[in-house]
Amino acid sequence: MIKPDCRFCLANELLTDTPLYRLAQFFILGSIDPDRTHQVMIVPYRHIETPFCLNADEWAEIGEALNIAR
Ligand SMILES: [Zn+2]
Repeated sequence: MIKPDCRFCLANELLTDTPLYRLAQFFILGSIDPDRTHQVMIVPYRHIETPFCLNADEWAEIGEALNIAR
């Protein structure tokens, strides 16, 4: 699912940041805030509104994504 105005839906080509890492279900972005350089964002390829909307495949991979982000 893609939301047309979402900058994190890669198909929209609105995201200017290059993902630091790509997994099957997620990509990981670094922070562009100079005061928060240690933060990352784990983004699912599928547009969802909340983490409660993650599907089974995404839940299965989120632990790996968190480990990579750490
Ligand atoms: Zn999106």
